[in-house]
Amino acid sequence: MDYIDAHTHIVFRETITEELMRFALREWGAPHETLLMSVKDVVRILDDAEIDYVGIMAFPARKLGTVKEDYAIRVINAVKDYADRFAVIGGVEANELTIEETRYWLEKQYEAGISAIKVHPPHMWLKPNAYRPEEGGLKQLELVYQFAEDHGLPVYIHTGTSAFSRARNKYGDPIFVDDVAVDFPRLTIIMSHVGRPNWIPTAFQLIRIRPNIVADLSSIPPRRVLEYLPRLTEIGDKAIYGSDYPGPGVHDIKANLREFLSIPIPREVMRKIVDENPRKVLKPLSRNR
Ligand SMILES: [Zn+2]
Repeated sequence: MDYIDAHTHIVFRETITEELMRFALREWGAPHETLLMSVKDVVRILDDAEIDYVGIMAFPARKLGTVKEDYAIRVINAVKDYADRFAVIGGVEANELTIEETRYWLEKQYEAGISAIKVHPPHMWLKPNAYRPEEGGLKQLELVYQFAEDHGLPVYIHTGTSAFSRARNKYGDPIFVDDVAVDFPRLTIIMSHVGRPNWIPTAFQLIRIRPNIVADLSSIPPRRVLEYLPRLTEIGDKAIYGSDYPGPGVHDIKANLREFLSIPIPREVMRKIVDENPRKVLKPLSRNR
């Protein structure tokens, strides 16, 4: 069996920027060892872990001082020789750009080959439903979802807290994702982290009742998944595995996967979560060929 890891923050030696290095120094105290891996190093790790492909987050977060909209395109260029091993998740900061800029970057990233779009409310300082008239009417954000829906791209929405120093955790409440599910019924929404640790019941209920919301189990320590989600098997048809590597506490892609595989749930449910479901919602870069 070959696996999919649908959520990582791998940064390659080939695409590291000064901003990202500064961010790593501020948040980790030293450049994280993974910032120094080459694309080839990562492919070797994936081979060893029997992982078919990984999703790599490459979305902008100006408030955190990480990257801007061109970064996703740089990552795609860096991995294009291994197009069946990577899916690059782009994004635009709807509350930082004009409508024209938003459209420009969505089209640019789509042409380059992004596999999905990420909306990170605590890092972008924005509610996932900020396009609603009663929530401020941010047209740029409506365009992001509309574009994704029209082009068959799933949208990852971070839910739950973020420990980074400039994150605003009030935006992590999954309840605001409900509007997106209702207003964009053909859009696949990947609800990252299932609201962990403090909004799990809200997130779990939305995943159960909204057909277009999928659960992304990344960043929940594997040994605690059943503690957080005792009814995981009930959402086994719409849950996907991700490691969140190299996020806090995740030091090894392969070890995290092995630990996840040892969770005591029926093997057919496990196979869906680590293989069948992610394959359906997240396509690798090679889908464009
Ligand atoms: Zn993440």
